[in-house]
Amino acid sequence: MSKMDPQRRAMLRRRTRMLYAGRTPEEQFGFVNTPIYRGSTVLYPDAHALRTNSPRYTYGTKGTPTTAALESAWAELSGAAGAVLAPTGLAAITLALMTALKAGDHLLVTDSAYRPTRSFCDGYLAEMNVETTYYDPAVGAAIADLMRPNTTAVLVEAPGSQTFEMQDVPAIAAAAHAAGACVIMDNTWATPFFFPPHERGVDLAVEAGTKYLSGHSDMMMGLVSANAEWFGRLRRTFDLFAMCAGPEDCFLALRGLRTMELRLYEAQRQGLAMAQWLESRPEVKQVLHPALPSHPGHAIWKRDFLGASGLFSVVLHPVSDKAVDAMLDGLDLFGMGYSWGGYESLVIPFDPRTYRTATEWSPGGPALRFQIGLEDVDDLKEDLDRGFARLRAIG
Ligand SMILES: *Cc1c(COP(=O)(O)O)cnc(C)c1O
Repeated sequence: MSKMDPQRRAMLRRRTRMLYAGRTPEEQFGFVNTPIYRGSTVLYPDAHALRTNSPRYTYGTKGTPTTAALESAWAELSGAAGAVLAPTGLAAITLALMTALKAGDHLLVTDSAYRPTRSFCDGYLAEMNVETTYYDPAVGAAIADLMRPNTTAVLVEAPGSQTFEMQDVPAIAAAAHAAGACVIMDNTWATPFFFPPHERGVDLAVEAGTKYLSGHSDMMMGLVSANAEWFGRLRRTFDLFAMCAGPEDCFLALRGLRTMELRLYEAQRQGLAMAQWLESRPEVKQVLHPALPSHPGHAIWKRDFLGASGLFSVVLHPVSDKAVDAMLDGLDLFGMGYSWGGYESLVIPFDPRTYRTATEWSPGGPALRFQIGLEDVDDLKEDLDRGFARLRAIG
């Protein structure tokens, strides 16, 4: 196989490009996949190369062919100028925030953000003299009213963690840019396959690769992609911290990338089938899934998103915690645990009332978050059907 002409390669459709991105078999003795390069020391060919630090690879923290393959593939997928890797999704969020912020700055964060993002803002950025204001995710263009002269970053996350509020990202981005602020997005739910972040106005897009890029609940990874305006600063921050992803995890991420789109379409299909079934259940008050027409953010989802992944929530009609626990404890196919995006189904109860500050969460019943895996949906329905019978028996 010869090396493909770069121009012809750029013309390929995304699905094809994602099979080739970050892969150079001709440089790997013909082996299809980029192998795991492990290493700290990189030997220089001569003193001149050492003095000028000119080779492509210079030290373990500065990248390897394995990390470079993943970075370039992710940048290509994201429509970004470049991307950097981090050991976890949360580390990627902190990297993005520290790229955009300095002491004395003000930060706007959606009230629906991933909770550990809040903990970082309140527990670390506050000590570094960065003030955070939480805003209603439904703010839209009115974010302009919250901007202060020292507001340098706006963090969006759509849909919101656990509660699935949609956000008008293009409108927020336009207002933020008019005031000179950087737009950071946690794009973990949709991934760049279902929400092209930079096309929609995002400057720094964060993905927890721990979820769908892995797809198998067997690794942790974070990725940050940046547009041309922000990539230089992102790379600089990355170099200063040297918060590097492990080589095996990069290999697993590259492996996951080749089937990620297929798995996402299946997650969408399975997730919607379960969401629709749950919407028909008498025990369920509301299903929070942006691809359902009943969702308050459905119009935004339809306008801006290209698909939906397999994570959503439901609000039950009022029942006791004991009844919910009886439902959950007997489930065979839904594991209880954090994270998502793997091949197995999961469920957790949640209650964001204790930590949201800009909005009130009062859905009128207990709430459950579902991650739908690749099981046969009829098996999943039967498992939940038995669970609902246990719930009703206690009430
Ligand atoms: C899981 C998750 C993260 C963090 O990823 P980790 O790899 O677990 O640190 C960030 N944002 C969202 C929306 C997530 O679901």
